[in-house]
Amino acid sequence: MARLYEYEGKEIFKKLGIPVPEGEVVTTAEDARKAAEKLGKAVVIKAQVWAGGRGKSGAVRFADTPEEAARVAEDILGMEVKGLEVKRVLVEEKLDIAREFYTGIIIDSARDVKAPVLMFSAEGGVDIESVPEDKIAMFAVDVLRGIQPYDTLNMALSAGVGSKNLRPIGDIIYKLYNVFKSYDCRTVEINPLVLTTDGKVYAADCRMAIDDAAVFRHPELGITIGREFLGEPTEFDLMAWTFEEEDFRGTSYVAQMVSESEMKKGDYIGYHGIGGGAAILGVDALNKVDLKAADYADTSGNPTASKVYRVAKIIFAQPGIKGYFLAGFMMANQEQWHHAHGIVKALREEIPKKPGFPVVLLLCGNKEKESQEILKEGLKDLPGRIEIYDREHVYDAKFIGGRVKTLVDEYRKEKGL
Ligand code: GDP
Ligand code: MN
Repeated sequence: MARLYEYEGKEIFKKLGIPVPEGEVVTTAEDARKAAEKLGKAVVIKAQVWAGGRGKSGAVRFADTPEEAARVAEDILGMEVKGLEVKRVLVEEKLDIAREFYTGIIIDSARDVKAPVLMFSAEGGVDIESVPEDKIAMFAVDVLRGIQPYDTLNMALSAGVGSKNLRPIGDIIYKLYNVFKSYDCRTVEINPLVLTTDGKVYAADCRMAIDDAAVFRHPELGITIGREFLGEPTEFDLMAWTFEEEDFRGTSYVAQMVSESEMKKGDYIGYHGIGGGAAILGVDALNKVDLKAADYADTSGNPTASKVYRVAKIIFAQPGIKGYFLAGFMMANQEQWHHAHGIVKALREEIPKKPGFPVVLLLCGNKEKESQEILKEGLKDLPGRIEIYDREHVYDAKFIGGRVKTLVDEYRKEKGL
């Protein structure tokens, strides 16, 4: 899911008629001061990161004067929230809250639903997971029929909203569905939806994610990669994405797990898994022997040798990695010789530059015999510490992890690392 920041989602809300507090996004304390001055009242300053629970982490704070706004922004900018660095803050007019509601839309893929589901609760402002289900009004949308204004009014009514606030709240839920549809969302959520003491309703927060497959329909959003990422994609991630963008045969998924400066410090391994669940098994195998994955890569769905090659090459481009691990912990039904060819080509280019470099390859499944031959023949004269395993060890994560560890320890000793 390609996520949007709160401020980006709120711009969309504004465009489609959902009321949001006035404000602007800034990157410096000085600009936060100016923004607060322009608003001319008490403000709320909110870290713009893809993480919930900012309120509890001290990443949503208030200021009464422009000077205080600058100080608070100074504090929040650069802080880490759930591992994400804050590079922008949203400075908004502070709302005088009378009540907090929740509304959101998800796609429920359960067999008996398979539809977008509208949700509304009069108990907002807290984690929606902690709200008992009978306090949440739900409405599964028949996408051919769409929704009618009375559907959302009924939702608000059944959740206990009084007659005075029924219309503005129903109207926002109705418009939220329009946002959801117009932007091909996977989810969109307002928590809290705020009723102010002077009787107005605003979307005080916004979480929104676009369906990966629909990202191309919304170039105006400037999403670089139509995939879920923890933070903003790094240069490495962007480069790896070009393999996918140009070639839809099989999939490659590559993401960096830590910053490159961090990578140089610890025992990080260039990690190349095959197939989602199996790839996680490989990461576990590393963690159990106190090694860490520098990246998470997965080539599956019968990718071409060229795609596998490019993934292996970019894994090797990471500075300071102490080994390369191909973790094929599955009897893959893709034709593994494409992997074998791609890996051989990459290693033949990389290993001569790194004598003694640890390489553990586990590859099995369809065309296994041929793949093993390609690997053994293609790599036999290389100056690395290369070990190749087949189906005999496919369920033996402990053994394979142990081999990586042994080779890395030897290499470290030899190189004085
Ligand atoms: P989250 O914790 O990451 O979901 O961030 P929110 O945007 O939801 O903010 C957290 C909490 O801060 C909300 O639940 C509100 O209680 C409070 N808050 C946010 N904006 C305002 C505001 O304008 N006025 C007041 N009084 N409280 C606010
Ligand atoms: Mn929130």
